Amino acid sequence: MNLIVATKIEEVRTQVRTWKQQGLTVGLVPTMGYLHEGHASLVDKAVSLCDKVVVSDFVNPTQFGPTEDLDAYPRDFDRDCALLEEHGASLVFHPSVEEMYPQGAATFVEIQSDMPKALCGKTRPTHFKGVCTVVSKLFNIVTPDKAFFGQKDAQQLAILRRMVRDLSYGIEIVGCPIVREADGLAKSSRNTYLSPEERQAALCLSKAVFLGQDMAEKGERDADKIVSAMTETIQAEPLARIDYVTAVDGVTMETIHRIEGPVLVAMAVYIGKTRLIDNFIVEG
Ligand code: AMP
Repeated sequence: MNLIVATKIEEVRTQVRTWKQQGLTVGLVPTMGYLHEGHASLVDKAVSLCDKVVVSDFVNPTQFGPTEDLDAYPRDFDRDCALLEEHGASLVFHPSVEEMYPQGAATFVEIQSDMPKALCGKTRPTHFKGVCTVVSKLFNIVTPDKAFFGQKDAQQLAILRRMVRDLSYGIEIVGCPIVREADGLAKSSRNTYLSPEERQAALCLSKAVFLGQDMAEKGERDADKIVSAMTETIQAEPLARIDYVTAVDGVTMETIHRIEGPVLVAMAVYIGKTRLIDNFIVEG
């Protein structure tokens, strides 16, 4: 196996130092494991743009709320390694919680604006503080030239772009398109929670996304009309419960009503107990 498995921060630093001394560029793909083709697409992109690709595989406790699915979150490290090897990653970083958060760790990175309070932040108020903190730590450990994130988590991507700008990280953030199942459902590690009946019901998210996208492509510029039509599509599914369906400015995440610049139309929907997200972007 060519893939290097590292569980300690120091191992990663030593390996990356060696690569940099050889003049090689390094890409980072942060993940929480239980990898699927969505993650693989980020690795492929990273491999195409960087000499060496580091993938972190870490279920980050600080981004889960007290009543969320931290313990239940699916894990299969051996399968993840096989996928990463197949896609040409160079190193997987799989630390313990203690390695990442030593006893007494009390320093966090947080964007102090409304950005992390919008959309997913309404029901997950501490989520993006956990994300920014762990990604900052990974940036400090790996010191990548580029880091790769999915458009699937659009608010996360916007927040991390802001963090990199605000803290002068000097790392290029590369956003990658959403990878979907053949029937449209956005790939997610959380899809494994769905019963067969719920899996079918979950199609209401992508159905709503495709409907909204189609309206925007046909020239609709009234964002409220698009959101209403999408909301109706989801409400027609008895197993679905909407957390939010909203159109926001693509950079600031502030609610908008007319599409003028780049707009993110995003949703979070509970299918049974499982909370799923999906979105699309209108370039404006
Ligand atoms: P996660 O393991 O869910 O934290 O995701 C790790 C990275 O993979 C994030 O940047 C996600 O946005 C990205 N990702 C997850 N699912 C998909 C997908 N279906 N398509 C593209 N990227 C994805």
